[in-house]
Amino acid sequence: MSINIIIAGPRGKMGTEAINMIKNHPTFQLVACIDRKNNGKKLSEINHESQLDTQIFENPEECFKQVPADVFLDLTVPDIGFQHTKIALEHEVATVIGTSGFTNDQIEELTVLAERNKVGCIIAPNFAIGAVLMMQFAKQAARYFPDVEIIEKHHDQKIDAPSGTALKTIDMIQETREPKQQGHPDETETLSGARGAEVDGIRVHSMRLPGLVAHQEVIFGGLGQTLTITHDSLSRASFMDGIRFSIEHVINIDKLIYGLENILDPSDQ
Ligand code: NAP
Repeated sequence: MSINIIIAGPRGKMGTEAINMIKNHPTFQLVACIDRKNNGKKLSEINHESQLDTQIFENPEECFKQVPADVFLDLTVPDIGFQHTKIALEHEVATVIGTSGFTNDQIEELTVLAERNKVGCIIAPNFAIGAVLMMQFAKQAARYFPDVEIIEKHHDQKIDAPSGTALKTIDMIQETREPKQQGHPDETETLSGARGAEVDGIRVHSMRLPGLVAHQEVIFGGLGQTLTITHDSLSRASFMDGIRFSIEHVINIDKLIYGLENILDPSDQ
């Protein structure tokens, strides 16, 4: 059975990679694209390599009204992705959200909407399987090492900081870490921001540089030792396994699931 997919953000770096993945998948079919430019054009006119005559819509309402689909995949920016997702869920189209930076309130609203319409929705701050393992290992380590700081590094076009992955890592660490005020109690910053942002005593530092893709180090400190768990996405291809897996999974659920770790094999957790 083929899975018909609508994608938003087809000209973006993630969108381009996802189109390639969909095109090479035996049962995925790209049936429409949503793009704020190029209304009415065929995808092959803006992405020659795709060789797909998939129609492009500027108006998401029109797209969902005109094109029946099983899955909507958003790869844009948070505010627009949120609007797209609401429209998709209203049209009862299962949704995979690659876009990062949704607020807790937005996720809560989408959770209610998915449940009301009994339609699947998956949000993952990081679709790289290696990054999910990095977060799970960090959760394990935090049981023994309550002193921890995170350094996340991304390309300089990323607009949200800290990354969704860093925030998700902190959430997972907090499941096992005893609350602890880290560092010296009288610590001061002679330069504002030198110690990074803080969530419940855990420091997170965001670096943005050209040349980077998506990287994170979770560094634990203990008596006479440190433990560093590192993950590097070297290209956007690293996110495609998780997106493919989510597309296959989302059509079989009727609620919103946050985090790829919640749909991987539960015996691994
Ligand atoms: P990108 O190359 O900048 O592409 C973003 C796309 O969104 C472009 O097609 C852009 O079109 C479109 N867009 C931007 N503003 C828009 C607006 N106001 N209305 C409609 N479309 C708009 O970014 P990317 O690297 O592909 O990343 C896309 C998203 O995926 C980002 O949110 C990023 O953080 C996220 N991401 C998530 C993961 C994960 O594992 N969850 C991994 C990597 C990236 P224009 O050219 O017209 O602006």
